[in-house]
Amino acid sequence: MRTAFISDIHGNLDALEVVLADIETQNVDRVVCLGDIVGYGPEPNECVAKVREVSQLTVVGNHDHAALGLMDTLGFNEYARAAADWTTNALDDGTQSFLRDLPYTQVLDGMLLVHASPKDPERWTYVLSYQEARRQFDHFTERLCFIGHSHLPVVIEEYGQEINALSFPEDIPLRLHRDRRYLVNVGSVGQPRDRDPRTGYTWYDDKLDAALLRRLEYPVEKVQQKILDAGLPPFLAQRLADGV
Ligand code: ZN
Repeated sequence: MRTAFISDIHGNLDALEVVLADIETQNVDRVVCLGDIVGYGPEPNECVAKVREVSQLTVVGNHDHAALGLMDTLGFNEYARAAADWTTNALDDGTQSFLRDLPYTQVLDGMLLVHASPKDPERWTYVLSYQEARRQFDHFTERLCFIGHSHLPVVIEEYGQEINALSFPEDIPLRLHRDRRYLVNVGSVGQPRDRDPRTGYTWYDDKLDAALLRRLEYPVEKVQQKILDAGLPPFLAQRLADGV
């Protein structure tokens, strides 16, 4: 069974459409979504409609929560907060009720799905250090956990007491080991932050026991124009071109 993981779409419909078209070419059996469907981008309702159509399982992200007014956005920077306010006003009723019903975590065939991190998922902790990864491995029992949130694709391996960040090059299946555990950050569809503006997603094939990262060009300038036309902060358009 081959599962495609899409995450951090952030209202970027053009990027999402490129990713979904690519998924069609990758012998993928099912699609799941790791949250942050909305926030930052100009087409939140359209993105939620697409996700509802294609995703077999979806978990909630912090920006989905923020757009529903379910969390304090004081911790957000000014751009994220302005975008959250804009998104709150933009969401239609159907989108709101879909987002409101999403769970923090899901388990699918022994794989844990969560937006930010397994330990206290509602705290939206970033896994950006070995120390944090160590703590997170102690808070789930599954062998594989798939996350988003940082918008930085990476595979973190636990092998005995060792924690290693593996390089996750695009288009090369990364073979996993049956006796090791993994935290896989699947990258971001709508707002990549690894200085590569291309959209991305990850698939995992349980028969091969391998993960593969895809990165794809999409019409960035078209989305930038939509952001400006929507009256969202111009910085949010610029960062898409810079991949930050
Ligand atoms: Zn995000």
